[in-house]
Amino acid sequence: MDGKVLKKVDENEEDMKETLMKLIRIPAIGPDNDGEGEKEKSELIMEIIKDFGFDSIDRVDAEDDRVPSGIRPNIVAVKEGKEDKNLIIVTHIDIVPEGDLDEWDTDPFEPEFKDGKIYGRGAEDNGQALVSSIFAVKALSEAGIKPHYNIKVIMVSDEETGSEYGVEHILEEGIIDEDDLVLVPDHSEDEGKGIEIVEKSGIWTKVEVHGKQGHAAMPGGTINANRIIARYQNFVDEELRHKFDEEDELFSPATSTFEPTKRLANVPNVNSIPGKETQFFDCRILPSIPLNEVKKVFENAAEQFEDETGARIDIEYVNESDAPEKTPEDSEVVKKLIAAINDVTSFKPELVGIGGGTVAKHFRDRGIPTAVWCSNKALAHQPNEYAVLDYIVRDCKVFALMAMG
Ligand SMILES: [Zn+2]
Repeated sequence: MDGKVLKKVDENEEDMKETLMKLIRIPAIGPDNDGEGEKEKSELIMEIIKDFGFDSIDRVDAEDDRVPSGIRPNIVAVKEGKEDKNLIIVTHIDIVPEGDLDEWDTDPFEPEFKDGKIYGRGAEDNGQALVSSIFAVKALSEAGIKPHYNIKVIMVSDEETGSEYGVEHILEEGIIDEDDLVLVPDHSEDEGKGIEIVEKSGIWTKVEVHGKQGHAAMPGGTINANRIIARYQNFVDEELRHKFDEEDELFSPATSTFEPTKRLANVPNVNSIPGKETQFFDCRILPSIPLNEVKKVFENAAEQFEDETGARIDIEYVNESDAPEKTPEDSEVVKKLIAAINDVTSFKPELVGIGGGTVAKHFRDRGIPTAVWCSNKALAHQPNEYAVLDYIVRDCKVFALMAMG
């Protein structure tokens, strides 16, 4: 049976290529990125999949009056299986804008096929996996196979700008629940050799030192914010890395990271002592470490430096995300995915963690075990983005075999 469905996938290779190229021609950019939304593209997708053998195809729209159509469409297409259990594959319809056109060798919205690759904005992120998922169902239907699981192919809007009108809307509507197997093919570790099951927590900390400006020749009476932020930065840097040095080999790097990053400009001239300094830190924290412990380090150090220097130090967390529960290594979705990858490829994928920020967080926060996996070159949001046709075919086979249980 496996052989039959794999053969059907291979036969559809040209069709998959053409389909992805059609999708690329319709930009679907959210209003936060000054786009008109996903409606037109969602209608094309509905048209494409109407004869793919789904038992039902529904649109679950979220209202959004910032786009001309007034809605952000989400498509839920289901092919029923033998068991009362759902395999959910979630991809997204929306794309990010093309960016600087000078950086592109081709027209981002007029796809080109060269050397086995399809070029265009959204080719990889997330058109490739969307195509693989719908063609997995087409192949099952053509092979006359009723899958083991109900396969629910969900294509959402608004992934690139927060997911409120996409994944969050779908979850609020109760379309996914805890017993489901959820696969998000929207991030690739080492071209498919890793399956992401856990992510780090993250905090972006903004530290603002308010000292007292003055002439560099007469520092008396001033409070040099530059000197204070430099010392503060060194102090918390050491403290954080020393205090939170535990390792988790699922992650690369295996430790938490605490990087001083952006620094705002202070004074324009060399002979002034800056009265104000602003420094940001990007912290990626292992899920085992409570965020409050990390915050305490920033805050205690601020108090200490205030006492020592007479400056005022304000701490603000401009972004914060608490790591969701890890998807268990032995969860059904992970086991079935590994088995399917083993059947289709010559390698055994590793389970990995990442620095943060996949849409899987929305599911894991609700206790839904979720695996993030696909095969790509990690070109999302870059100019000259492309998808590898062989990978589209390969992932399609993996999805079809997973559905067969
Ligand atoms: Zn994406």
